[in-house]
Amino acid sequence: MSGLQRAVILLGPPGAGKGTQAQRIAERYHLPHLSTGDMLRDHIQRNTELGRKAKPLMERGELVPDDIVLSMVEERISQPDCANGFVFDGFPRTLAQAEDLERICRLHEFDYTIVLHMVVDPDLLMRRLTGRRICKAGGHIYNIYDRPPKVAGICDIDGSELVHRPDDTEPVIRGRLMAYETQTRPLVDYYKGQGLLIAVDAMADADAVTAAIAKTLDRAEKEQ
Ligand code: ADP
Repeated sequence: MSGLQRAVILLGPPGAGKGTQAQRIAERYHLPHLSTGDMLRDHIQRNTELGRKAKPLMERGELVPDDIVLSMVEERISQPDCANGFVFDGFPRTLAQAEDLERICRLHEFDYTIVLHMVVDPDLLMRRLTGRRICKAGGHIYNIYDRPPKVAGICDIDGSELVHRPDDTEPVIRGRLMAYETQTRPLVDYYKGQGLLIAVDAMADADAVTAAIAKTLDRAEKEQ
């Protein structure tokens, strides 16, 4: 399957599985996986000015201001590897971001946006997030309860160390879920109104969710 000429957006609360699925879709369709969370963490690690601004907000589970995120995204989308499309994970997260993404897509002549709404029972989210472990080298995602690595603390794929994200602790998770409800959930109606939203049952196991998403994207491609 060649690249899709489109912007694929994964929309859903923290813990819905956006990162896991975005990685897999990106691989399957040969598209870059753009995670604003990963981009921000990279800035923090490199101790850039942007990273220093974002760090305290992320530690509290609050959103980073739109202007910071938007300039970062715009710069990334302009790279040649995004010419055939991209998979967004964690962006847009506010109405202002969604409106600006529309402008950027028009500018780059992406006329096809598909929004996958990852629908999940809120009770599941805390378990998924507190149990989440991420590989240091490749960002591969595990869950100590539901999807443990073969050897505790070690990535099955590249053997690197698994880490617990500092914002995957209960009090911060609560803040992130609240930020989702107040600032991001309105995007569900926004994209529904534009006829771009496709609901995905994100409660199934990860492979079943990937299969459902692939079916949806393949069908959408044929209809185009
Ligand atoms: P999750 O979706 O599991 O919360 P992310 O890695 O996507 O994890 O985001 C981690 C944090 O990074 C968020 O809590 C927020 O502070 C910041 N962030 C990521 N993407 C955005 C965005 N598009 N707008 C504002 N803040 C963002």
